[in-house]
Amino acid sequence: MDGRKTPGASGRMAPVYNPATGQRSADVELASGSEVDVAVAKAVAAAKDWRYASLSQRSGVLFAFRQLLHERTDELAAIVTAEHGKVLSDAAGEIARGLENVEFAAGVPQLLKGGFSEQVSTGVDVYSIRQPLGVVAGITPFNFPVMVPLWMCANAIACGNAFILKPSEKDPSASLFLAQMWKDAGLPDGVFTVVQGDKEAVDALLTHTDVAAVSFVGSTPVARYIYETGTAQGKRVQALGGAKNHALVLPDADVEMAADAVVSAAYGSAGERCMALSVAVAVGDVADRLVDALAARLPKLTVGDGTRPDTDIGPLITAEHRDKVAGYIGAGAAQGATVVVDGRRADLPAGGFFLGTTLMDHVTREMTVYTDEIFGPVLCVVRADTYEQGLALINNNPYANGTAIFTRDGGAARAFQFDVEVGMVGINVPVPVPVAYYSFGGWKASLFGDAHMYGAEGMSFYTRGKVVTSRWPDPATSAVDLGFPRTR
Ligand code: NAD
Repeated sequence: MDGRKTPGASGRMAPVYNPATGQRSADVELASGSEVDVAVAKAVAAAKDWRYASLSQRSGVLFAFRQLLHERTDELAAIVTAEHGKVLSDAAGEIARGLENVEFAAGVPQLLKGGFSEQVSTGVDVYSIRQPLGVVAGITPFNFPVMVPLWMCANAIACGNAFILKPSEKDPSASLFLAQMWKDAGLPDGVFTVVQGDKEAVDALLTHTDVAAVSFVGSTPVARYIYETGTAQGKRVQALGGAKNHALVLPDADVEMAADAVVSAAYGSAGERCMALSVAVAVGDVADRLVDALAARLPKLTVGDGTRPDTDIGPLITAEHRDKVAGYIGAGAAQGATVVVDGRRADLPAGGFFLGTTLMDHVTREMTVYTDEIFGPVLCVVRADTYEQGLALINNNPYANGTAIFTRDGGAARAFQFDVEVGMVGINVPVPVPVAYYSFGGWKASLFGDAHMYGAEGMSFYTRGKVVTSRWPDPATSAVDLGFPRTR
């Protein structure tokens, strides 16, 4: 807060664990509403000055921040792995994707260019400008403690706002490292603030009259709550929710390639990604071949401590979450699914919140393994007779974040791209997270609000448009005219 580490005053704490050992590594102080008020007041003061910083000064800070992020990736990845559990290379990958957003935002002088129309009427010109909102807040999930905050704050700050981050209380340390790097990059104090906290801090931000906009990424019930509460307070809100991402595998697909892609996307980061593939829809006679190819790959994946170079899959975030995911496997089996590979194995490393990879076949749409977002290393195979059946399954799902089709048929892929009701689509690409100069967002229960995150939509979310109509006095054309202004 205001460029300094500030001790919490509420007396409320939450435990932070190293998921690979199960040990409690820290306690995070949880801000009260009145502490949020102080943070917002400091951010308001900082925002007043920051909007005067020239575009090249703002761009200069972003270039410096980008350089620090690049140089200190290994340190930051270690912090992420210690509190989240994902393997180090995956943590570095998340930082690299976040860095792309910083690079995009560094182009702010180009991105905020308005339009200009000369002589819209005789002697009259019109131009458009985009101005910052003031103080904006970001509330982020545990699963991307670096990338998701960077989706938001890089653009928000480049646009001239002060940004308050409320990170997940499960892995809070990466946010403080980001704050230090912003300071080291020359960002004025108070323009980037971190408030550690839980629902109490979130509610204080959502109802604060000086917070103009809220960006949220997390689970669907909380996203809906954030959107409804924030918009009722007159705020601009974008709230990204949960997911159930399907891969549609057509009979003509290269099965080995599709299996590599689906395994990577289903089990990477232990399935704790909003773009993880959790359902493979196998069309026609590809099903048996696909299940065999998937199952053959799973024994080769090593589950363990994410700091070890030979680990492919780290632990889950908490013991409770690990038990919840394991519960879904049991429920799926009881409801009639075939457990081809069972992750509830005895040979997992002791101590941490580990779960092996699970593959379930003959899953149907009524089973809880299909209806619920599991957020763990569990892949369900649903068999469909035709492309149309598979497409209907995807389009009838309440979530619509990402999807992918695997095929060699360009016509089928194009039809899928046209007809599928999902926000982000991969064609033989399993995790189609858009690059920073496009925007990220799902449809339906995966996003509440109109604006997707980052890219051009991010720049527009963090600014308001103003249109200026201008005429310089010309005695030759000046006259009193009480009629409604017309163009002449
Ligand atoms: P979460 O919804 O539990 O928490 C997200 C944030 O909201 C955290 O900062 C948390 O402190 C806060 N929060 C939690 N409960 C709250 C409440 N009742 N009121 C106010 N604030 C509350 O999500 P998570 O478990 O941290 O993250 C996993 C979820 O995020 C998954 O559902 C995943 O799909 C989703 N996610 C979505 C995207 C996307 O882009 N759509 C990206 C990453 C994660």
